[in-house]
Amino acid sequence: MAQGKDTKEKLPRQAMPEQDPNIRKRNFDEVPTGYTPELAKAEASRCLQCKKPSCVEGCPVSIDIPGFIKYIQEGDFTKAIRKIWEKNSLPAVCGRVCPQEDQCEGSCILAKKGQPVAIGNLERFAADYERNYGSGELPPKKASTGKKVAVVGSGPAGLTVAGDLILKGHEVTVFEAFHKGGGVLVYGIPQFRLPKEIVASELHFLERLGVDIQCNTVVGKTVDVDELFEQGFDAVFIGVGAGLPRFLNVPGENLINIYSANEYLTRANLMKAYLFPEYDTPLAKGKEVVVLGGGNVAMDSARTAMRMGADRVRIVYRRSRDELPARQAEVHHAEEEGIEFYLLTNPTRFIGDDQGWVKGMECIQMELGEPDESGRRRPEPVSGSEFELPCDMVVIAVGSGANPVLTGNTHDLELNKRGYIVADPKTGKTMKKGVWAGGDIVTGAATVILAAGAGRLASDSIHDYLSIGW
Ligand SMILES: Cc1cc2nc3c(=O)[nH]c(=O)nc-3n(C[C@H](O)[C@H](O)[C@H](O)COP(=O)(O)OP(=O)(O)OC[C@H]3O[C@@H](n4cnc5c(N)ncnc54)[C@H](O)[C@@H]3O)c2cc1C
Repeated sequence: MAQGKDTKEKLPRQAMPEQDPNIRKRNFDEVPTGYTPELAKAEASRCLQCKKPSCVEGCPVSIDIPGFIKYIQEGDFTKAIRKIWEKNSLPAVCGRVCPQEDQCEGSCILAKKGQPVAIGNLERFAADYERNYGSGELPPKKASTGKKVAVVGSGPAGLTVAGDLILKGHEVTVFEAFHKGGGVLVYGIPQFRLPKEIVASELHFLERLGVDIQCNTVVGKTVDVDELFEQGFDAVFIGVGAGLPRFLNVPGENLINIYSANEYLTRANLMKAYLFPEYDTPLAKGKEVVVLGGGNVAMDSARTAMRMGADRVRIVYRRSRDELPARQAEVHHAEEEGIEFYLLTNPTRFIGDDQGWVKGMECIQMELGEPDESGRRRPEPVSGSEFELPCDMVVIAVGSGANPVLTGNTHDLELNKRGYIVADPKTGKTMKKGVWAGGDIVTGAATVILAAGAGRLASDSIHDYLSIGW
């Protein structure tokens, strides 16, 4: 018998099982372990199948959310994933890391009265089910057009462009600076939040479709954009991300054992320092670690430091808990794992020992004033409130900027005053003929789904260019 609206609303949101915090804080295995088919069907049955679904409006790539959830409810997981693929080629990734609470789930009608449908968990379930039990059947490809596209950067923006254009019959080569593809998905977001096998399987899928992935190629150094055209590429997409670490510029920042989050996480994740000595990457292990910042990058750094064996990990953030930019779920996970939060606190200088190793930080207490240009309340120092915080390792996670390696070596690209590429928000077209750009290198550090969405718009526009002209 079909469930009535009242029954659906009363069924509680089905929690995804998770590893115990006391165990997981010392291992790198994934924290949430995934829905079973029964849990997924129960959660799917909570969806009201709204005629005008506000969740779809909340999704940056407009996935037919009620459509795929209905298939899960009916137990047709194959159709569910195919419905998602119509709009999103990275569902196993997005189901894990999208800020659903601010997007689809934030707009779910059930959120008004209680708990929204766990759309992200269901998306993850459909993708994982297909990866583990699906037929592996490839989607149909259009006949070859003979056109060649170069994609620079293999993050979610570049991978989306590559996947879309190969299906449309174009030849696609992805150039990646690192020795592995995936962008931040492999070098930034840790294994315990996004297992690297999942990113590898997305890359493998593209390779099976015929995408050529050339690693260890720094465009702007190894080869430049104009040379790509000379080599016969008809169009170039730039998706190089925003990987330039920002620092605080306070005294003592160059002491030993002070890392940028970028370096710390790259060593830990991409270069697998957490498996040292099985892998050849040493990584300092602090006993008393301080992480500066309040975003997802700070949470990832703090939780990584805990897993690397720290006795104590503190997050120092200059605003209050309400302004933490990290996802609520990640803050909650960090707290469960014993990460301590020093809020309304800002470092004024780092203190070293006579060998140049960091041994502490001088901090000052902050209070919140009026909102600043970011819309968050401006933190202001409380005079005379300085105090010392002992630590033997610091990770700085206060944001990132545009990396100038490619942009500084490419003629005719227009950059804004912060060094990001100026591109048409509807198409991704830059000022340089035949060149598109999208993702963090256009918007500044944002999210996986926005980068993938920008890739989708650009690939449509590149296809038009290759078929009709500029
Ligand atoms: C630690 C961390 C945690 C995050 N957590 C989340 C999260 O939970 N949810 C979420 O939605 N977002 C999260 N983000 C943000 C998200 O990962 C990014 O917004 C997204 O990856 C941007 O995608 P992109 O394709 O623009 O660039 P990237 O993912 O940055 O990929 C760019 C790629 O280009 C390569 N490259 C750079 N320069 C060159 C060059 N000159 N030649 C060739 N290749 C080059 C880089 O090596 C990289 O592989 C997080 C970011 C970080 C750093």
